[in-house]
Formats: sequence, C-alpha cells, structure tokens
Amino acid sequence: MNMIPSFSRFALVCAVLGAILASTEEKSAPEVHGIVVANMDRSVKPGDDFFRYANGNWMKRTEIPPDRGAVDVWTKLGDLTDKRTADLVAEIAKSNPPVGSKERKVADLYNSYMDEAGIQSTGLAPLRPHLDAIAAIHDKRELARALGETLRADVDALNNTNYHTANLFGLWVAPGFDDPDRYIPYLLQGGLDMPDREYYLSDSEPMRKTREQYKAHVGNMLKLAGFSEPKARAGRIVELEHAIAEVHRSLADSQDIHKANNKWTQADFRAKAPGLDWSEYFQGAGLSKVESFIVWQPEAFTGESAVVRSAPIETWKDWMAFHLIETYGEVLPQALADEEFAFFGKELSGVPQQLPRWQRAVFVVNGLLGDVVGQVYAQKYFSPEAKARAEAMVANLIAGFHKRIEALTWMNPSTKAEAEAKLSTLYVGVGYPESWHDYSNYEVKADDIFGNLWRGGLSEYRRQVGRLGNAVDKKEWSMAPQTVNAVNLPLQNALNFPAAVLQPPFYDPEAPAASNYGAIGTVIGHEISHTFDTEGRTFDAKGRLRNWWTPDDLKHFEAATAQLAAQYDTYKPFPDLSVNGKQTLAENIADVAGISAAYDGYRASLAGREAPVQDGLSGDQQFFVAFGQNWGEKMRDEALRQEVLTDPHAPARYRALEVRNIDAWYTAFDLKPGEKLYLAPVERARIW
Ligand SMILES: [Zn+2]
Repeated sequence: MNMIPSFSRFALVCAVLGAILASTEEKSAPEVHGIVVANMDRSVKPGDDFFRYANGNWMKRTEIPPDRGAVDVWTKLGDLTDKRTADLVAEIAKSNPPVGSKERKVADLYNSYMDEAGIQSTGLAPLRPHLDAIAAIHDKRELARALGETLRADVDALNNTNYHTANLFGLWVAPGFDDPDRYIPYLLQGGLDMPDREYYLSDSEPMRKTREQYKAHVGNMLKLAGFSEPKARAGRIVELEHAIAEVHRSLADSQDIHKANNKWTQADFRAKAPGLDWSEYFQGAGLSKVESFIVWQPEAFTGESAVVRSAPIETWKDWMAFHLIETYGEVLPQALADEEFAFFGKELSGVPQQLPRWQRAVFVVNGLLGDVVGQVYAQKYFSPEAKARAEAMVANLIAGFHKRIEALTWMNPSTKAEAEAKLSTLYVGVGYPESWHDYSNYEVKADDIFGNLWRGGLSEYRRQVGRLGNAVDKKEWSMAPQTVNAVNLPLQNALNFPAAVLQPPFYDPEAPAASNYGAIGTVIGHEISHTFDTEGRTFDAKGRLRNWWTPDDLKHFEAATAQLAAQYDTYKPFPDLSVNGKQTLAENIADVAGISAAYDGYRASLAGREAPVQDGLSGDQQFFVAFGQNWGEKMRDEALRQEVLTDPHAPARYRALEVRNIDAWYTAFDLKPGEKLYLAPVERARIW
C-alpha cells in the first residue's frame, strides 16, 4: 500500500491522465526549516479543526492552479522533481546517445510525445490497423481472441493499489499468496472506462449528470474518429458498461484479501464463468500454457463472461474500438485530445486547463522508462550522506515499533513472536533499488508516440508474463526513485522510500527533530505499520497468506479497527457522499500507527530533555503540526468526489484528523471535552 494516491488508472497512458489530479503551489514560501508557522491559522482552536489550525492561512492565500484538481505539499515537491527529471532528459537528449541505447530511448520517447505537429499530421493513421482488426471480427470466438490480445499488466492490487483497467480484465504478476517465492498470475475485473462502478450505478444527481456527460463524450470521440451513428453506438456502449458495473465488486470489498484468494484452473473458467470462449481468450493473451490463476473477484468474472454472451457482437466491437481510441486519446490529433480532456479533466476532475505538455511527457517517460532516468536522478540528487541519514531514521522507527509490540497488553506472546519476526525480516529500500530494470525488449522510435505507448504496454506485459513461475526478487522495487511517494509491498515483506520523498519539506537535515519526525517520521511509520494493517496482518514474515493470530488477538484487532472505520464513516464531504470507513481502513490504521511510532521515535531522540519552544509552540505541538501540514490541501469538488469513490486513502483533510486517536495530542494542546474533535479515551482507536 502506498502513501498517497497515485491516480494511475488509465492503462498505459495512465500517468498522463492521472496528471490532471496532480497539483502544485504557485510560489514557494521563503526558506524555513521545520513547520511553517505562517501557514497555520492560530485563530482556530486545534481541538475544533486541527486541519485548519495547521493549514488555515496557507489555504486562505492559496488558489488551485487552473491545470490542477488540487494543490498540496506532495505535488509541490512532485513538480520540482518533474522539472529536475525533464532537465535530466534534456541533458540525455543533448548528448546524442547511440541508437538502441536506453538513453536514446528516453530521448526519443520524450521527443515523440512533444512532437505535436507530427501527431497532427499523422492523424488517425496509427489507429487504423487496430480499428480494421476490430471491424474484421465476425463471431464471438474471434471476439474472445481479440479481447485476450488486449490484456495488459496494468493493475496492482496490493502495492501501488490500482484496481482499475478499461480492458475486460487486468493482469497482476506478483509473489503467490500461498507460494511467496514464485511469481504467479492474478486476474482482476475490468471493462469500465469511468473510474469505478459507482459512476455507473449511483443514483445521486451529480452522478446522473456525469453519466449524461459521459454518454455525450463517447459519442463525440466516435464521431471524431469517423464512426457512423455515433450517438446510437454511444448509447449501446454505455449500456454495456452499465451491465459490467453491475457485476463488479466494490472497491471496499476488493480490498478484502480473504475474498481474493480464489485459485482457478483453466477448466474452472469454463465451468464457473461460461460465456466468454476462455481458451481463445487465453490464446490471445499468450497465457494458454498457464495452468491456474488467482481470480480476485470471481463473481465479476462470472458476470462479465455472461455479458460477453448476452450482448450483441456489434456492441462489443464498438466498445473495443471506443476503448482503443479513448486509451490513446491523449496522443491523437488535437480535436480528440481536447475531447478526452474535456471529459476526464474538466468533467471528472473539475480542472479547466491541461498540465504543460513537458510535464505530461515526463510522466510518460517515468511510466515506461522510469529506471533509466531514475538511476541518473538518484546519482545527482541523493547523496550517500542523505541515504545514510534516512536509513538511520528508518532503523530508529523500526526499533520503536518493536518496543510498541513488546508493550502491547492485549496481544498474546505467540502472536507477538510472529509480529516480531515480520518486523525483523522486513526489507527496507531507501532512495533507489539495488538493481535496475532492463528495457532491451522495448523498441522506441523518434517519430511514433502511438507506437511507443503501444509497444511500451506490450513490452511490460511480456516482461511480466515471462517471469511467471520464476523465483521472486524480494528486493525488487515498485516505485522509481523520482517518485514523491512511499510503498509497502506485503507479498515481499518490503518497503520502498524513493529518493524524491526524502527531501524538504518532508525531511530537512536543518529542521528540528520535532518537525522531521512529525513529517517524514509519520510517513515512514505509516509504511512500516502497513505490515500490520487489515491487509498486512494477513501475511507472515515470508509474505505468505497465513493466519498467525490467536482468536482473542484477532477479536481485539477487529473491534479496534471497526471503531476507526466507524469514525471515518462520519466524515461527509458532500451531502450525498460520505468517506467510506471500510474502503479507507487500511490506510487509516497505517496513519494512526505511523503517528504513534514516529512520536515514540521523536521522544526517544530527545534523550530525556525537552525540545526548545519555537514561535510559542512546544516540541510536541510542533510534531503534531508537522504531521497536520503533511496533509494541507485544497481540492476541487469533482476531484474530491473521485477520490472519495476510487481511492483507498481518505481525503487529506480527514487524514490530518487522525491525531484524535493519539493521547499525546490531547496533552500537547490541552484539549477539553466539548471541543469538536474531542474523543473520550475509550472512543480513541488504539491499535498498535
Ligand atoms: Zn499507505
């Protein structure tokens, strides 16, 4: 599970569309180390609204830029990192690297994305052979084969948590639930173009309006691509997706590991999910020799397969053609790219204007050749001293976590021993990986952005399929060093902290310990504690899915976490939409536990002394304000709605309120019953 949403939803151009939701702060504040007192609103009582107390003045003077769905501290740092990455790409290009080298691929990929004139003059020609192939399908057998050919490794259930693919299904290759030493195939539901089933099924007024806009958008894309009767086709496509949405598992249920471990052999697909010609599908996907799969949401496979049988073949062909055009809309001629942005940017995220093209090009390079640039980035921006310092802090937090486990009064010794074993064998990657991805099978051409994206998705798919059955590399990373995020990989029992997140404002060697522990310390603690959240606790030290809990301990854990889920259910960003306590539970547990571990680490770092008061704030107060400032954000309503519906993380404004569960926060700010955020001691979620 990652630290913040990465918004990677849309197949291989995911990062491009995801960028719509990214954000930035217009001008940077003057050089300060530690918490930014000028960003606080000290007229607000911390016990009434801690989010505003920590961020209120920043919110008053900050506007969401026209090319953003939101503005926050994460993406401000993301912008700086993207700029540095773009500069590195420019340097690489200037050095005129030899044809075939990985550096040349970076330069060609970036430049082909930037070549707007070339894209305009090529028109729809790159799509043509693919559209012709779809038009030539004339029975359901050929349809099944063609659907299989669209399968990509574009979902990720547990690491970067991306449950969405617009293809019929999505493949995730990862260590096995029952055999964590080998890579096995997981299949996830798919087929929806909009981000989640709720967009198709919700009865609320805003969602019904979005559906109308969507239908118009589908028609517009088909019309621009030269299809006859675009409106009628759009109506049928949306109806088909509605039927798929009805059989989809909800996001909250998809996160329940116990419902995900369903091993199906090839024969099981035919018996349990009749309708789709599975042998043709697996042939098309190049998976016919694979004996079994883990089917994440079996009822969706049964349901979607039945829809393949019941819906007319012409509708399915239109659906395929539309999804193809839609996936590549970003790199098609202007009219299509604009229509694509009008729906996904303006309607779904409320963003009036696109991000600059160079930045979208950086996302594409990061997505398809991330390690090539990442290697150079890490060399230039992450010194051995920075690495050593960050590693020391991580070790300190892990030691603190050991102590917390030892001190738990509710947990039996046998469960504690298992938890300790997990913590002791945790692999922590800091800054950058120990080995780098090889892109030798990826062909990049200087003047062919469509082909570069197409081949990029395919080459990654083949790489993933190629390692099925192979031994797992427990030290493999799932994030590039130039990513402002962090991640826990439960099946590898590993953490990654990329170089880009280990810098100010999260980590600043010149800042007081209070703010470093409150900012990056809580992030590190968050990732460590994913090891023991609702999902993490189901894996053992080897990454195997195994129940190592006594019934009593499990009962306590479930009661404590249910309390936290209920707490988050009460937050209501819209009259028709609440935060989903179950969907966001794992992340909320990680936040509460992360603050606790970081607070312990902070107190330990003082070695019995008290921290100096700064701007009238005690050390403990600075610690909690630093945590609150991690989550300063302003977000457009449409983007917020999308986040609530599709993200395992609660919106940042509610993450800042996790402090309600920490006793030391009450002491630090001298909170009294009756203040809005006050929880009686028994109401505070105490988990780790
Ligand atoms: Zn997380």
